[in-house]
Amino acid sequence: MPYPVVHVLFFVLCISAPAVYAIIISIFRRKLSLMDSIQILLLLSIGSLSALLPDVPAVYNLIVNDNVRHCWIGPVPTHSFLFSFFALLYGMLAGLIAYGKFRKAVYLGLFAEAAFLSHLWLDDAHEGNCVYLYPIYNKSISVFSLMAVTFPESDLFNYLVKSFVSVFCIAFIIMISLFALSQLGFEFRYRSEK
Ligand SMILES: [Zn+2]
Repeated sequence: MPYPVVHVLFFVLCISAPAVYAIIISIFRRKLSLMDSIQILLLLSIGSLSALLPDVPAVYNLIVNDNVRHCWIGPVPTHSFLFSFFALLYGMLAGLIAYGKFRKAVYLGLFAEAAFLSHLWLDDAHEGNCVYLYPIYNKSISVFSLMAVTFPESDLFNYLVKSFVSVFCIAFIIMISLFALSQLGFEFRYRSEK
């Protein structure tokens, strides 16, 4: 597994890159108030913790069992879509406490979900050990290995479907993050030249 700091940096600097860019621009233009800074810190903290959530059992196992096994809580794999609901709920709970508005809490929940999924994405690229579809399918699936399919080794339809699915899964995480950020105060839109 990549180290925790890699997961956090990957989420903040790559998946949340538009937000980081917008923050830097706002700082240079001196348009960032103290309240804005607190909100952004909260946002990135929730995202960072959610990006580490799938490996939480490693902390318990390190203290109790002197190992860093990190993929299971009881019978439930932590690197799965099922377990990702905890990130969604965690983000929503934090959003309700911070904002007191259900709508904003949902967006923060989605942001946390994107952070969680970015962890699976990185682990997938590293060792491909994610049981995404538990309990429907109990074996690990590697989205990244789909990218390695070659043509004409595989037939054209198979090749195109696997290429599309592998890239779509990654784009989906980025889109969730962008959508949540756009609803939480960051602006992304096309501006036509006049
Ligand atoms: Zn992991």
